[in-house]
Amino acid sequence: MVSVVSIARRAILRVMPKAPPAPPHDTSPLRVLPQFHETLTAALGPMHWWPARTPFEVIVGAILTQNTAWVNVERAITKLRKARLLTPRALERVPSPKLARYIRSSGYFRQKAKKLKAFVCFLRRDFGGSLARMFRTSTAELRERLLAVHGIGPETADSILLYAGNHPVFVVDAYTKRILQRHGLAGEKAGYEEVRTLFENNLPRDAKLYNEYHALLVNVGKNWCRTKEPQCDQCPLGPYLAARPGTKPERRP
Ligand code: SF4
Repeated sequence: MVSVVSIARRAILRVMPKAPPAPPHDTSPLRVLPQFHETLTAALGPMHWWPARTPFEVIVGAILTQNTAWVNVERAITKLRKARLLTPRALERVPSPKLARYIRSSGYFRQKAKKLKAFVCFLRRDFGGSLARMFRTSTAELRERLLAVHGIGPETADSILLYAGNHPVFVVDAYTKRILQRHGLAGEKAGYEEVRTLFENNLPRDAKLYNEYHALLVNVGKNWCRTKEPQCDQCPLGPYLAARPGTKPERRP
């Protein structure tokens, strides 16, 4: 016979929220980084990043997004599209002051116009203006050559390689660093290359995986892992947190 107590217990279990996954015992990056990805995918789903119509548009966006919010980049790209300037040839031909006016909303517009010009000049000089030819270059070599172009730093080069060229390089940004540091997976002074290799050495070399993972981390950074007052209680990565942000997290082995 079913007792009143067991009926009540079953009813309570039905309305109880699902318990978060237990934090892993093995806290090495090799174990934790794939788990972060799994947890975020389950919680947030596919991100469909980068929002662009062509690989060249990704490159333009990667340069324009430096030091500004994406919404400002979108405005600039819409203007460039309307003016039919979203091709390497058109960007090379348009006078710099005119180009700067079109991209004004993205901030630092004169410098960014110069950077866009530098990229299209590099593309024509080294690859005959062909993105397909450029992306056929090996990842390591192309990365090095992109980094030599005026205005292209590691984050921009890696965004171009990954999101426009489908090369397996992990893009690191301020959100990525902050999340890793708060979880004790990277030191306070960890540099770009250190964090990039941490991901690349502990995950399969897979452009699709890196593409999605970076976008998921950006989402976490924007929604929960803010500079001040991170919302760990609501964050999907909360169950993995060993020490609360603000306390000094221990560097894990
Ligand atoms: S908000 Fe908290 S739980 Fe989420 S990633 Fe940042 S430190 Fe981790």
